[in-house]
Amino acid sequence: MTVQYVPTTADVVRFYDEALPLISRLAGHNVHVGYWRSDDDDSTLQQAMDTLTDVMIERISVTAGSRVLDVGCGVGGPAVRLAKTTGAHVVGISTSPVMVAEANRRARAENVAGQVSFLVADAMEELPWPAESFDAAWAIESLVHMPDRAAALRQIGRVLRLGGRLTLTDFYEWTPVTGDRLAMIEDFRRMSFNAPFHRLEEYLSLLRAAGLYLTEFLEISQQVARHYPELLARLRQFKPELAAEYGAEAIAALETFLENCVASGAPNYMLMTVGK
Ligand code: SAH
Repeated sequence: MTVQYVPTTADVVRFYDEALPLISRLAGHNVHVGYWRSDDDDSTLQQAMDTLTDVMIERISVTAGSRVLDVGCGVGGPAVRLAKTTGAHVVGISTSPVMVAEANRRARAENVAGQVSFLVADAMEELPWPAESFDAAWAIESLVHMPDRAAALRQIGRVLRLGGRLTLTDFYEWTPVTGDRLAMIEDFRRMSFNAPFHRLEEYLSLLRAAGLYLTEFLEISQQVARHYPELLARLRQFKPELAAEYGAEAIAALETFLENCVASGAPNYMLMTVGK
């Protein structure tokens, strides 16, 4: 019986605080997978990452002046894009002080600091806003780091107004996994500081318990699959300088990790929109 790996909040903070220069170097202003709309879509990795944000923007349905909560804001790329595209006001949270500082710097540099701001907060704890403070929320690849997704979804549900929407992406499992696939997923989670993944049925129960109901479920593993070979190619392109900067061992470990993702396929990835 395998003991499942569970990251602590401190592990996730340290991971992002320390890995930020490397992440920014490889991924730029997004800390999520790329999304390719079709096989003919010849977007670069950076463009495909922005496309995932756009697919979220198409669903979150906000207008100028809406107040949006960005749960797990990364370095602020998605929030700035949302604000510029829709005119919404966005407040982002992250447990990583280094990321929050970088995200606020980006908002100033992009001239949207009056519209977009970021602060340190843990989504699994009481959020610093009264009930019904936001018209919408999104959580792009952030719930995956939270072992207590139930608590985070309850908090998001609390601060969302009635009729508001939450759009999220997360890894999940379709069927119970065993054997080689389980070993692959455990390795993936350890390398990425991910909490255990839920079965879809479990996810729906968590949403119900948070007073949220499903409006759309998209299985998008296929659309994001190119992320891993593309990221691996980028890592190899800059390997010598990355090794000099971050250590040959760390870069070799990341390369092996990405090779495994390419060889055996990454875990299932979904995009969900829910309402309150
Ligand atoms: N949504 C961003 C970043 C994704 S990376 C993007 O798409 O670019 C995951 C983010 O979730 C990081 O910013 C990390 O600090 C944040 N995070 C992880 N655990 C969290 C928690 N418990 N509460 C709030 N943010 C958290």
